[in-house]
Amino acid sequence: MEILNNTAPLAAAIIAMGSCSSWGGIAAAAPNPTGAKGIPEILTGKTVITIPGCPPNPYNLLTTILHYVTFNKLPELDQSGRPKFAYSRLIHENCERRPHFDAGRFAAQFGDEMHRIGACLYKLGCKGPETHANCSTLNFGETGSGTWPVGVGHPCFGCSEKGVGFSTPLHTLAVIKDFTPPTFFTEAFPNKEGLPSGIKSLATGAAGLVIGAAGAAMLTGLGKSDKDTQDSHTSGSDTDHSKED
Ligand code: SF4
Repeated sequence: MEILNNTAPLAAAIIAMGSCSSWGGIAAAAPNPTGAKGIPEILTGKTVITIPGCPPNPYNLLTTILHYVTFNKLPELDQSGRPKFAYSRLIHENCERRPHFDAGRFAAQFGDEMHRIGACLYKLGCKGPETHANCSTLNFGETGSGTWPVGVGHPCFGCSEKGVGFSTPLHTLAVIKDFTPPTFFTEAFPNKEGLPSGIKSLATGAAGLVIGAAGAAMLTGLGKSDKDTQDSHTSGSDTDHSKED
């Protein structure tokens, strides 16, 4: 705290990297015998950019610094000092398992059949519905897609959200803040290989692009809303999407 108070006045910008420096994190978990607290509570009156997470994503730090270097100003921040480009959306909004949530397909315990096929982890305590972060779209490191807790089968525990991570029990049900599903998901149910049919359709669509116009037409259809699809069916369209799937 002494070092912080000495150096902060000389800093061009102050970034709290990680949940502990942002709001106390695990060190400030109840009963917090050491009185741990985050940098914004120490440097009151100063703008502190917070990049919470346990671990925080290095790309969010890099992007924040590059934004400052490039535009000579800080990125837009939310009420907790988090850059909006990274924390303006709930994990639940862009989660790859969201179609299962909307369809009511949940894993009930680790290792059961629904857990193995990649169903929603809400009933295992996933805090994605009340946690703002871009883990579900950015992933972690450069080891390929799916490299984030939910991607490898573990419920989100809300590490980037003050009052959720390190505060609420791991397996209690999250508060649902967004009941409206995104409109762009296809109806998905795992096929024999364990892949949601939507992913299968995308793969098929990629091949169709190479083959010719039929594939391109199918990809266009994937972006249609339910209403568009119903309209085309009721208007006598002879396109059979089930065959394309
Ligand atoms: S509850 Fe968790 S696993 Fe299920 S869709 Fe939301 S973020 Fe994904």
